[in-house]
Amino acid sequence: DDFADFQSRLSEHVNKRSGCLETECRMRAKNGEWTWWQVRGLITARDSENKPVRMLVMHRNISAARKVQSNLVTAKDQAESAMAVRGAFVANMSHEIRTPMNGIIGMIELALDTQLDPEQRNYLKIAKTSADALLTVVNDILDFSKIDAGKVELEPLEFSVRDVVLEAARVLAINAHKKTLELIVDVEADVPNLVSGDPTRLRQVILNLAGNAIKFTDRGEIVIRVSLDKTKPGSTELVFSVSDTGVGIPAESQSGIFEAFSQADVSTTRRFGGTGLGLAICSRLIELMQGRIWLKSEPGKGSVFSFAIPLASKQVAAQAQGDRSFAGKRALIVAGSQNLSSFLKKTLKGLGVECSQSSGIDEAHISIERTRALGFPYDFIIADYKIAGTSNEELTKRWCASGKPEMLIMMLTMENQREELKALRTLGVSTHLVKPFGESDLISALRLVADVDGTSNDKFELAEPSVDLDELAASEGLRVLLVEDNPVNQELAMRLLQKRNHSVFVANNGSEAVDLFEKMAF
Ligand code: ADP
Repeated sequence: DDFADFQSRLSEHVNKRSGCLETECRMRAKNGEWTWWQVRGLITARDSENKPVRMLVMHRNISAARKVQSNLVTAKDQAESAMAVRGAFVANMSHEIRTPMNGIIGMIELALDTQLDPEQRNYLKIAKTSADALLTVVNDILDFSKIDAGKVELEPLEFSVRDVVLEAARVLAINAHKKTLELIVDVEADVPNLVSGDPTRLRQVILNLAGNAIKFTDRGEIVIRVSLDKTKPGSTELVFSVSDTGVGIPAESQSGIFEAFSQADVSTTRRFGGTGLGLAICSRLIELMQGRIWLKSEPGKGSVFSFAIPLASKQVAAQAQGDRSFAGKRALIVAGSQNLSSFLKKTLKGLGVECSQSSGIDEAHISIERTRALGFPYDFIIADYKIAGTSNEELTKRWCASGKPEMLIMMLTMENQREELKALRTLGVSTHLVKPFGESDLISALRLVADVDGTSNDKFELAEPSVDLDELAASEGLRVLLVEDNPVNQELAMRLLQKRNHSVFVANNGSEAVDLFEKMAF
């Protein structure tokens, strides 16, 4: 195989086109084994007609070096394909990993619902917390691998930005309210309601950023804002920002924060937990959505994570504009948070409602008394149930005692909703809003108390879940078709459903499910 090359190089040298012969080739040894040689030659004598008569040639056995080199190439190829295989493997494994985790967590929850002595309960609770923590880590790693292996594809859909942001905020509200943090969603009026993009990925990014904000904030508030990028006219770029009043991030840690496995401060991380993958996942997802992410933060003061993504929209005008049913009405806003006050004021103003605001309960009383004395009471009082830890009971009682001249809308957190709802109901508060709420929830509440549609009987039922499936099932069980191939999860789902009085029919695969579905009604 190497002979032709050898010959051509030799003739080049003979014809003086090269200063020396230099090549590498294989030769067969007596024992039949092929060996690699480096060959270097030089014509040392020519006759009178310039034909070469003597040549000095040096042969060097380079088999060992060649072998090392070829091993390296193979090793590199292998490593590269192993990396790709491993990435793809992890990305494909997610179902296999999450399924048993679901079994573990679900079974612990079931066990926690049984009769246990305090010691057993404590062990199980710790097991549950650990399993939850493990699931978070596993989810992060799987998500990251999936994105890294290029397995994440966007699914463009038409969706409502307001709904996606509010849903994400509601998921996190329980954690925020447990820490007595205020959580506010403020979508500006000029943000189009329907846009096209991938709502699941957008929700994931918001959950991640707002989840971090809650994790790294001990007191104060988290504000999720959405606005239209006004720097470019006609642009469909939406800017989302999540700001907190938490620990903040030192300048030197800010640049690398969007890289995988980076954490600003190892000591705080011990305290808060986490993998350092969340922001890397966010920034990759945003990149995938053709957007960008950035950060402003000051240690001790808080952080603002912002991202901008292009989201095409057919509809330019925002929702709910032109609702003038409340034009000329007057409202008093009693809120502990300046951001919440501004959000309410802006939204109410958009509806033509004139607003006053007070940030304390005493101040609110004065304002209410004064307007009443003038025979010109507010139409609405929209009040936080608790301000700086003090409850608004006094305000409610006085309002009741004076014959309820205003319509009182109480703003509750997820935390105090459960305990306080009954008390408020007894006192006859007009209605309530559970934070975080959006513009449309506020409008519904106003319409309800003002009885704009003339339909409301029980005003209090506004923010209650519409149909309580649990209650429905308690009287008569539902017939449920369960399609699940994993035996542990079958058992888990069956128990959960049976506990709620449902009768369960199990299909082990899609084909069985279709058969059952054709045989009976579920
Ligand atoms: P994780 O939270 O799992 O550690 P992330 O990638 O989400 O990973 O965040 C990386 C690091 O960035 C965190 O460990 C924390 O140090 C810092 N960080 C993120 N968000 C905030 C925030 N809102 N306030 C303060 N520090 C933050």
